[in-house]
Amino acid sequence: GSPRELLLSRIRDVPDYPKPGVLFKDITPLLADPAAFTALTGALADLCTRHQATKIVGLEARGFILGAPVAVRAGLGFIPVRKAGKLPGATLSQAYELEYGTAEIEVHAEDLVEGDRVMVIDDVLATGGTAEASLELIRRSGADVAGVSVLMEIGFLGGRARLQAALRGAPLEAL
Ligand code: 5GP
Repeated sequence: GSPRELLLSRIRDVPDYPKPGVLFKDITPLLADPAAFTALTGALADLCTRHQATKIVGLEARGFILGAPVAVRAGLGFIPVRKAGKLPGATLSQAYELEYGTAEIEVHAEDLVEGDRVMVIDDVLATGGTAEASLELIRRSGADVAGVSVLMEIGFLGGRARLQAALRGAPLEAL
């Protein structure tokens, strides 16, 4: 089958996780399959090259698992965007709205500078709140956004529409 079929076949639907009514997309079977994991990181690295990214931002936590091998394959540095309170150095931080309450993410301020072209990598785009906040962080650092690349987009949650303004024309691609 096609690479897309291989990836899809390795994503497990888990009903009612983490709470009733949610259908969770579990990527651990994909990570455990070297052919699928290699196909995924290769495809994401190709997007980084195509969009002339100079740095990779991975979003905690599954964006770290995917973003780190993508960075190595694309020959680019990896920058972690973490939940608040986890980075030891001086940070930029950005709060964003969740369904109930707010969350906050951070990046080391010195890791992103003017002239960088940053590709944001994550596994799943759901409501788009996390990715939108990461784009705000990148813009505030003075860097440019090369794009947002994810394994999977859950279309009905509206993440693409939520991200549109923050993307400013940069590509959002879901494999
Ligand atoms: P959003 O901010 O777009 O609502 O949620 C995206 C974040 O939550 C991503 O970092 C992603 O890892 C996680 N996420 C939300 N839904 C799922 C899901 O069904 N499967 C996985 N693997 N991650 C999810």
